[in-house]
Amino acid sequence: MTELLFKVIIIGDPFVGKTSFVQKYVSNTFRKDYKMTIGVDFALKVIRWSHKYNIKLQLWDIAGQERFTSMTRVYYKDAHACLIMFDLTQKSTFQNTVRWKRDLDQKCNLVDGSPVPCLLLANKCDDIEHREVTQEEIEELCKEFNFLGWSETSVKDGLMIEESMGFLLEEMMAKH
Ligand code: GDP
Ligand code: MG
Repeated sequence: MTELLFKVIIIGDPFVGKTSFVQKYVSNTFRKDYKMTIGVDFALKVIRWSHKYNIKLQLWDIAGQERFTSMTRVYYKDAHACLIMFDLTQKSTFQNTVRWKRDLDQKCNLVDGSPVPCLLLANKCDDIEHREVTQEEIEELCKEFNFLGWSETSVKDGLMIEESMGFLLEEMMAKH
């Protein structure tokens, strides 16, 4: 049995659902009350990938207010993959994903020099009434800024969380 350690970071504006996502994925809980993240939270999940591989997945969850400072460089260091999340009901958080992607690409690469594989997550898809971003807009931005792909998610309803992480894990396994 081989054990692999993968570091995955999750970034994006405050309040989009990053901490909720990590908690839901790792411990299957969801809190409606907002708890602001201070500093960095770590979560660890051990995955039995196959009869050959165990994956130790380290999820790094940063506080949104530390964005675009020298702090993020430390946070990005040695990441194998990245999730950039926005809130479908807050257009500005969608527009800011471009800044997050640039910040990441400027400060961090994989060991072979290639960009860190990055998945775009459009969270809060359960809140249809307040939706401010169309699928076409996401598709376009995703292509223009070289995301691996994108998915709508609802951490609240538990939609596309396993699938998104599974997609990223496949990518990391293919590259390892
Ligand atoms: P962070 O600042 O990005 O870490 O965001 P949080 O995880 O703290 O979530 C911010 C707020 O959004 C909280 O009140 C969550 O309950 C709420 N939230 C997170 N995910 C969803 C979702 O999928 N749908 C809805 N409607 N609310 C969500
Ligand atoms: Mg948070």
